[in-house]
Amino acid sequence: MESLKLEGGLRTFSEKRNGLFINLLEKNDIMNPLPELYDVLILGSGPAGLTAAIYAGRARLKTLVIAGSQPGGQLTLTMEVENFPGFHEAIMGPELMRRMRAQAEKFGATFIEEEATSVDFSSRPFKVYVGEHLFQGRSVIIATGSKPRWLGLESEKRLMGRGISSCATCDAPLFSGKRVIVVGGGDTAIREALHLSKFAKEVIVVHRRDRLRAEMVLQERAFRNEKIRFVWNSLVLEILGNEAVKGVRLKDVKTGFVKELNCDGVFIAIGHEPNTKLFKGQIALDERGYIIRYGETGTSVKGVFCAGDVCDPKYQQAITAAASGCKAAMDAESFLQEESESK
Ligand code: NAP
Repeated sequence: MESLKLEGGLRTFSEKRNGLFINLLEKNDIMNPLPELYDVLILGSGPAGLTAAIYAGRARLKTLVIAGSQPGGQLTLTMEVENFPGFHEAIMGPELMRRMRAQAEKFGATFIEEEATSVDFSSRPFKVYVGEHLFQGRSVIIATGSKPRWLGLESEKRLMGRGISSCATCDAPLFSGKRVIVVGGGDTAIREALHLSKFAKEVIVVHRRDRLRAEMVLQERAFRNEKIRFVWNSLVLEILGNEAVKGVRLKDVKTGFVKELNCDGVFIAIGHEPNTKLFKGQIALDERGYIIRYGETGTSVKGVFCAGDVCDPKYQQAITAAASGCKAAMDAESFLQEESESK
C-alpha cells in the first residue's frame, strides 16, 4: 500500500480496485489544518471530469479530481464502447476510462476516490467538503453525471439485489440459462438486452410504447437476435416474488388488459437522473434537476462550471461528455486568467 501526501497535512493511501489504483483519504486524519487551495476542483470522473482534468492539467492548473462513488463513471459499468471515435474495434468501457485517467495523471491532476458530501459556493474560494475534509477551489467543474432511474414500486425496493438490477454488465452471469425481463426502450435497455442474451435463455423487453427510442444499429441487432422478444405498450405494475423475483404483472396501456409473466430477473433501464442533490440551493437547477447552463459550460455561479450528463439531458454520450469537459476546463482557465489579470 502506497501513501501519498497532499498539501495541508492530508494523506491518502493507494489501493487497487477493479484493476485501478485509487487514492482514498486516510480515515483517521483529523480536519486538515490548512485547507488546500486548488485552481480547479473537478467533481466526478466520467469522460467529462477526466477530459476536464486532462485539459486543466495541460494548462498547468493545480487540479484535484474528487472522483466520486463510481470512479470512472457509468462507462465502467459498460462492456464494449463502439461509438467513441478512434476505436473502430470497440474498447471496453473500464479500459477507456483507465486510459483517460492515466492521461489526466500524466499531466499532473491529483485524484481522490471519495465523494463530495457538501459544497459551499456562496463565497470565494469555493468550498467542497469530503466528510470533514475541506478542499477549496478558485474554480469548480461539476461533472457528477447521472444515475439510473427506478420504477418507484414497493416490490422493486423489496427485491433489489434479489433478481432486480440496473446493470446487465455487472449481473448478467447470474442469469445464465434463465428468463429475464428488461424494462425500457432506449439505448440502455437494448444494450442490456443484447448483453443479457449472451447468458439468459430468453430476454423479454417490456416497453411502454410500440416503438423503440434506441439507435437503429442496436434495434436491428435486437430484432435479429433469436433470444430477444418484445412486449409492446406495456407498463410494469408489480414485480412478483417474496424472497426472489418470480415474475412481473403487466398492464397493456392500449387495452387495459393485465397479465403476469414468469421470469427470474428484471433489469430496469428507463433512463437516468442527474446527480445534483449536493448542489440544490447552491446553483440553479431545472425542474428535472439538471444544472442550468449559462453559455456553454457556465452555471448560475461565476467560476463554477459544469460538464457532461449532469447538465445535458439530451445527448448523454461519452463523446459529448468528453467534449463538454474540454470546454469547461478551457472556460475555467479563461476565468482564472481574467481574474488574475484584473487584480
Ligand atoms: P432514455 O433514452 O431516456 O430511454 C429511457 C427509456 O425508458 C425510454 O424508452 C422510455 O420510454 C422508457 N421509460 C422512461 N420512464 C419509464 C417508466 N416510468 N416506465 C416505463 N418506461 C419508461 O434513457 P437511456 O436508454 O438510459 O439513455 C440515456 C442516454 O444515454 C441517451 O441519450 C442514450 O442515447 C445514451 N446512451 C447511449 C448508449 C450508446 O451505446 N450509444 C448506451 C446507453 C445510453 P419512451 O421511449 O416512451 O420515452
